[in-house]
Formats: sequence, structure tokens, C-alpha cells
Amino acid sequence: MSKAQKFLTGPTIPGAPTQIQHSLDQAFVVAEDINMGTTRHILFFLLFGVLLSFAAQAKDSTLRCDYCGQPIVGDYIVADSHSYHTSCYENHVALRCAVCGQIINGEHYVDFWGNAVHAYHKGVEPQCEYCGRFISEYTTGGGFRYGDGRIVCKLCEKTAVEDSATVDTIRSQIIALFNTFGIAIDDGYIPISLVDKKVMARLDNDHIDPNGYTYIEKTTSLGITVEQNLDIFLLDGMPRLHVVATLAHELMHVWLYDNGPDDMDPALCEGSCNYAAYLVLQQYPGKESEYIQTTFRDEPDSIYGDGFRRVAEYVEDNGVAEWLSYLKSHRNSPW
Ligand SMILES: [Zn+2]
Ligand SMILES: [Zn+2]
Ligand SMILES: [Zn+2]
Ligand SMILES: [Zn+2]
Repeated sequence: MSKAQKFLTGPTIPGAPTQIQHSLDQAFVVAEDINMGTTRHILFFLLFGVLLSFAAQAKDSTLRCDYCGQPIVGDYIVADSHSYHTSCYENHVALRCAVCGQIINGEHYVDFWGNAVHAYHKGVEPQCEYCGRFISEYTTGGGFRYGDGRIVCKLCEKTAVEDSATVDTIRSQIIALFNTFGIAIDDGYIPISLVDKKVMARLDNDHIDPNGYTYIEKTTSLGITVEQNLDIFLLDGMPRLHVVATLAHELMHVWLYDNGPDDMDPALCEGSCNYAAYLVLQQYPGKESEYIQTTFRDEPDSIYGDGFRRVAEYVEDNGVAEWLSYLKSHRNSPW
């Protein structure tokens, strides 16, 4: 494009009708013809201003709601550069708090499940022990407080495991899945008991593994095991998938007891048990399973969390078979 042609083209008004753009181009031509220095500029800016206000008016008169598409008359709400009828905004567009139902403006928190809540509810309103949801009519249909103080939402309570028959079914599923990974265990002789949080706290003095505990007692004589006792304890009333994750973790302790050296580094041991549970959970599709997997990945604890992340990295690099083979002959971490 030549210099002269370029000068004779008026500035572009985004969204202006073609007619207006033509007028603007013509104004440039007229201004060029007058060729009177300052006068030319004044004339141009006058015309430009008139055209801009005309374009703005034209645009205003067709302002439409970005929710329903109907014209907007009178007051309206602008949010994220979109315009809405006040009622369209309040009833369909505005972010609503999952706890109190009020519109959220400003600081808020969105949980794993996509529920937005005012930031000031955190630490004040109860959250489910197992899914982390804020407990409310909107999110969970309410919740329960167990006798031992645990707060559990109604969604998680639906699959709460309270009987040994269900535990046995889950045990069989885990053992079958373990076999596909090459983790072979014979656990038929191990009793599994469901206990509440108070009993669990007495059993597991360290309180680090709150959902399950594997008790191992071994009597040796001249280096030979002469007697052993294994007992697995699980918290009662956990949602089914939490039982799957916890029991898989505890059964991996049993495998390590049968196959690995004594006194294994805690991060290698707990990280491996969590990783075995993670492998099992990956076979259960759905958002609840993903949520528990996320809690494994994000666990801040240096033994359970860092241990899990290190083991996961090791398995990614070396494969499951190599990891299991390492565990059989090493008490210290490979990292
Ligand atoms: Zn509307
Ligand atoms: Zn709220
Ligand atoms: Zn829940
Ligand atoms: Zn453990």
C-alpha cells in the first residue's frame, strides 16, 4: 500500500457499521483536500468525535444481555466484560456460595468438586472427613457426626462400611488386583477388625496412619520365626473407596513383612504401601477415586507424602517389577 493511500484511509472504529467507517474515510479525504494544516486537524477531530459518539449510541441502543440475548433497558450488571439483566445475572450467572447460597463477590475458595464457597467459611463450617466437601444442604444434603467425633457428609455415608462381609469382599478384590501387579500375598489367616477412632488411637500411638493399622508381632528363636501375630484394624464407617485404599495400604505392609527386610526406612515402607494403594485405586474409575489419589499426591507428611512421591518417581523410571524386587532386598531408600 502506498503512502498516499494509507493516509487517505480513516482510523478504524472497532464494531462501527460500514457506513460510519466510509464517512470517516471521506472525512480524511475532505481534510486532505482543504490542505490547511491546523484547520485540517481541527476538522478531523471534530468529525472523529461526532462519529465516535454516533457509533457509541448505535452500540448502546442494541445492548443485549449476554445470558438471555434480549435487549437491555435500564439498569444492568457488567461482570467480566459481559452485560446482563440484573435478574439474569443474579439467578443464572453469579457465583453462588455452596454453604450459604449467597452471591460470591471477592475472596472465595473452590474445592476439588467444583463447589465455590466464601473464604470466611473455611475453618468455621464443617468439612467432610473423607471427601473434604463443606457440609451443607446444597453440597451434600447434610451430614453426620459419628460417636468418635468424625464429621461425615451424607454422600460419603451412603457407602459407609460397617460389616465384615463387605470388608471380606473388598479384601478379595484387592488381593486379585495385587496379583495382577505381581504382589502375591496369602492373607487368609489375618483377622480384620473394624474399630472406632478412639480405639484406633490407642492401638496406633503415633497417630500417623489414622484410618488403618497393621499389628505385627514376631517371636524368633536363633533367627527363626517361631510365632507370629498379624492383625489388621480399620476405622469403621469409612466410605467404601476409603476402605479399599486403607486395606490395600495395610495389605502391602503384610507383603513387606513376608518379603522385605525388617526395620525398613519408614519413608520407603509407608511410601510403598501408599503407592500399592494408589495402584489399586487407579483400577476404580470415578471422581471419588481421583479425589483420594489427589490426597496421596498432595499429602504434606514427610514420611507418607514424600515417601509416596519418591516411590512413584522410582516406579515411573524403573517399573513395578523392579520396585518390588528392590523392596525384597533393601531396607534403605534408593534415593
Ligand atoms: Zn437477560
Ligand atoms: Zn457463603
Ligand atoms: Zn463426604
Ligand atoms: Zn502404613
